[in-house]
Amino acid sequence: MVADILKNIKALIIDMDGVLWRDSQPLGDLKGIFHSIEALGLKYILATNNATRTVDEYHQKLSGFGVTVPEGGIINSAQAVGIYLAEQYPEGANLYVVGQPSLKSTLSQYNLNVVDENEKDVQVVVASMDLSLSYQKLKHASLLIQSGCEFIGTNPDRTLPTPEGLTPGSGTVIGALEIASGRTAKYIGKPEPLLYEMALRRLGVRPEETLAVGDRLETDIIGAHAAGVHTALVLTGASTHEQALAYNPKPEIITQDFTELMSIWTQRKN
Ligand SMILES: [Mg+2]
Repeated sequence: MVADILKNIKALIIDMDGVLWRDSQPLGDLKGIFHSIEALGLKYILATNNATRTVDEYHQKLSGFGVTVPEGGIINSAQAVGIYLAEQYPEGANLYVVGQPSLKSTLSQYNLNVVDENEKDVQVVVASMDLSLSYQKLKHASLLIQSGCEFIGTNPDRTLPTPEGLTPGSGTVIGALEIASGRTAKYIGKPEPLLYEMALRRLGVRPEETLAVGDRLETDIIGAHAAGVHTALVLTGASTHEQALAYNPKPEIITQDFTELMSIWTQRKN
């Protein structure tokens, strides 16, 4: 059955945290993995919910592991929020952002104006993981949301897999604002289809000839399934084998890690 799926795959949409690395620790021989992908003639794009780094920073991180990804080969939820809001607000908008400086700089590239707490005219609150989160930021954002601002969450991932264990993620911050304001955020990242749709468009492939590789059932696998993309779960990140077997939709392929997935593929070809 795995062989039947792999036979028709022309492209991969690959998650990064928990698939390629945990924090600064690579998960396997990344150079070798990307070599196998290219040797099999597969197209690929790296698509992450993580909005705490810019796409340029991801290129740098990958090159630190000896991997060079082509221009346009990485997308993140920060870009997806930028595209979404640029369509909603063609004249531009003032945003209050609870998030990392990289999120703010990405949003600024889409004709959006990131403002501070002194600005009274705010249309949108964007919330995400914020390493300098404070009570003051939560309070200001919550009051804006209650006053009627649009409330956007970059991605719902509650935690981030790190060598120390699962640490608070974007969903933790957005969840705090949902509790404080009594309103629910509109999420842009996985499991919403937008990020996968952008990836398919850039790759120029159909969903049924594409395989998503991820480590988290409730974002990577649900999102891919909803977009009609085939699914592979690797067990190096957020979700466990037990959880995967009991999950609906169940990932079509489950491997210990990305290396194992690529060796199954390579052996099948030889
Ligand atoms: Mg992940």
